[in-house]
Amino acid sequence: MLIKNGTLITPEKVVKADILIENGRIKKIKKGIKKKKGIRVIDASGRIVMPGLICAHHHLYSTFARGMSLKGKPARNFPEILEKLWWRLDKTLKPGDLYYSSVPVLIDAVKHGITTIIDHHESQGYQIGSLDEIAQSFKDVGIRGCLCLGASDRYGKGEEGLKENERFLSQLSTCLSVRQALNSQLLLKGMVGLHASFTVNDETLRGAVEISKKFKTGIHIHCAEDKSDQRITERKYGRRVIERLYKAGALGKKTIAVHCIHLDDKEINLLKKTDTIVVHNPESNMNNAVGWANVLKMIKKGILVGLGTDGMSSNMFREMRVAYLISHHENKDPRVGFFEAVKMLMFNNPVIAERIFGVKIGVLKEGAVADVVIFDYLPPTPLNSGNIFGHILFGLVDANVLTVVCNGKVIFNKGRILTVDEEKIAEIARKKAFKLWKRI
Ligand SMILES: [Zn+2]
Repeated sequence: MLIKNGTLITPEKVVKADILIENGRIKKIKKGIKKKKGIRVIDASGRIVMPGLICAHHHLYSTFARGMSLKGKPARNFPEILEKLWWRLDKTLKPGDLYYSSVPVLIDAVKHGITTIIDHHESQGYQIGSLDEIAQSFKDVGIRGCLCLGASDRYGKGEEGLKENERFLSQLSTCLSVRQALNSQLLLKGMVGLHASFTVNDETLRGAVEISKKFKTGIHIHCAEDKSDQRITERKYGRRVIERLYKAGALGKKTIAVHCIHLDDKEINLLKKTDTIVVHNPESNMNNAVGWANVLKMIKKGILVGLGTDGMSSNMFREMRVAYLISHHENKDPRVGFFEAVKMLMFNNPVIAERIFGVKIGVLKEGAVADVVIFDYLPPTPLNSGNIFGHILFGLVDANVLTVVCNGKVIFNKGRILTVDEEKIAEIARKKAFKLWKRI
């Protein structure tokens, strides 16, 4: 495949060049690449060509909560939001629900230029086999996914949750042929999921660390999203959240600590010392009224902080802009957060994905995976390598996606997803969601 006449944001620099794609990888980036016979040509017509965007924390299972009404008084705080909404939803999900709650979100993600998602799944009423359903949705839509199940002891099912993580990881590592393995391992990965420190007992935590070491992967866990996580962890286990994870050997360069809002300096230093990944989800944090994570401080310390949506949406550009706005608002200072907001999405998320997938993702570079998005954006002011951040944050943020290529295949073009039947999926999803609401 040849993508011609694009203005590339790599994202380190701006270059006018063509992209030659072969076997799912970027083979060449150069001006005036000649078209060979049998090669598909996509004309970018001077529009912006960027690497596919990455969401570093998502919850595909949350889809069926959209529009659901719950009886009783509205949740007053984060523990009530969990108990009244999310825990009721996740324990009611049944086999067959997960595929149809995942695919619509993946389609939406593709429409917003996302080609890689690190998902965190929970379905307490249906754990064993659940990750296979979600994996199938990624395969059918055709984007990259890293999956895990957030094991939790809130209903005494921590051991079962770990079993599902282990089952899925061992399945991923035993593919039929080398070729199949190479392909599927590039598109699907696994981690070991834990819900959050306050719902995970010591035995489950120990088990999760063991499995992560066995499969050379990391742990994906919510950390100090609300003050209650710290309060309950200190009361039950005598340590603060990050300290507890550190002592258990759960931190490290492949582990993702999500949120990290209520940390003290000692905990931030432990994240730095262990090179643990932090993922910021400002829209969700504002929605749950749990506070703002001081990502400016963490980035300054050299911690790898990425950006996720926490299931709120599948729009990474908007999440980036919210990250920028909330840092102004929280600090009452219009000078802060500009650089960090774009850096988290365009530079740190690719580093996170590379740690997990083991290949270059999220960059337009020869040898990187061929995940490429064409945005309908013609800069109305000069665009050069020195002002990319301004164009991303104030222009591209609202641009429509024209074409999405993932792993060298066109999966979205001219407003249509090409891999699945969007109307049919949405229709079945609505029926399944309605039945789920009735069960709840
Ligand atoms: Zn989350």
